[in-house]
Amino acid sequence: MQPLRGTKDILPNEIQTWQLIHKVANDILNIHNYKEIRTPIIENTELFERSIGNFTDIVNKEMYSFYDQGKRNITLRPEGTASIARALITNKLYAEKSINRLWYLGPMFRYERPQKGRQRQFHQLGIECIGSNMPVADTEVIKLAIDILKKIECNDQYSLEINSIGNLSEREIYKINLVDYLKKYEDELDTDSKNRISKNPLRILDSKNLKTQKILQNAPKLEKYLSTTSLKHFETICEHLTYLNIKYKINNYLVRGLDYYNYTAFEIKTENLNQQNTICGGGRYDNLIEQLGGPCIPAVGWAIGLERLIPLMQKNLNQKAKHNRIYIAVQNLHKIDILWDIIHILQEYQLKFELDLNSNNLSKQIRKANQLKAKICLIIGENEIRDKSITIKWLQTGTQQNIQISNFRKYIEYLKKI
Ligand code: ATP
Ligand code: MG
Repeated sequence: MQPLRGTKDILPNEIQTWQLIHKVANDILNIHNYKEIRTPIIENTELFERSIGNFTDIVNKEMYSFYDQGKRNITLRPEGTASIARALITNKLYAEKSINRLWYLGPMFRYERPQKGRQRQFHQLGIECIGSNMPVADTEVIKLAIDILKKIECNDQYSLEINSIGNLSEREIYKINLVDYLKKYEDELDTDSKNRISKNPLRILDSKNLKTQKILQNAPKLEKYLSTTSLKHFETICEHLTYLNIKYKINNYLVRGLDYYNYTAFEIKTENLNQQNTICGGGRYDNLIEQLGGPCIPAVGWAIGLERLIPLMQKNLNQKAKHNRIYIAVQNLHKIDILWDIIHILQEYQLKFELDLNSNNLSKQIRKANQLKAKICLIIGENEIRDKSITIKWLQTGTQQNIQISNFRKYIEYLKKI
């Protein structure tokens, strides 16, 4: 049996890395007053159509949608922001606080061609700062992405690109001029870009096709269409980033794949040359919440793709799985009255142990403890059961001690210190 194409099991030996990411995010974000939120994995399809936009790749061809038994049109969430905007509205979170700082980590689903760094079920860590239109909010959000990358030691393996895509009306005028220009070269554009001329022309700016890029060099520039307010917002963010010593590159061709962004758009990319080199994508979305039926509340956020982040994490962070320190060998698993007392004590002191569950003889069990590189082996044989004692064998040196169960706590106090 194989898992579905584009999905993967996360195995026990990888879990430490995932837990580490959760911990680092929690530690850093908590300090900045971001609260974790968990929204359902399924939502009404309409939520994504109304937010992400009908002409985007996600809604157009990547959604996992189905009808449930009540004939509702349901979608497995392809991203987190729309669900969080919905949760903010449903639960009126904006009524309690004027600023809601939220973060999430969980699986997302997109029907894409699976390849390196691209899965059908993948995971995103994301944050949303909801309630402020100030450039300092954009900066805080970008800084937190960098802080997290630094903390998990993806040192200097990435670069931040940032752009201002203005507001809706600025973009509308720009789109008309861009389309006018591109129509002249329609035959020379790549197929994707050709299709986008009528549906989503801004995305053409993002094209990786060299010929299209060449044509774009002389195309009208979005920044020329931006108002002073848009430009000022962007300049202020750049000033803050400079002060924070966060390196960035302004990329005037950067547009995000989702419709709801305005003003700021940014991406964090790795230096590696394969196509899936964007680890983090984000931006400002001042109209989304209103568009979904909520009040007019500005917001900014990002999402990091964890399957693309994990390969960058330095090996020293994938701490070597600690070997079980204590192995328990029992001669007769049917007569185990003192075994439970011993286990309770280990539990009380939070010592990690593994109980042998085979019915092998004691020497075989001790050999097993050696193989597993346990530090000590607790031996409970017939004699120990009779005397209410326990034999402690130090596997590295072979030294053995026998102590009364009543002294076991004291022994552990000593054990914990070493
Ligand atoms: P891409 O350019 O790779 O298609 P995107 O613009 O669709 O990315 P976003 O919707 O902004 O991506 O999602 C943010 C991040 O989530 C991406 O930068 C990437 O790291 C990750 N991501 C998106 N789609 C996938 C996928 N199918 N598999 C793994 N990670 C993904
Ligand atoms: Mg995509």
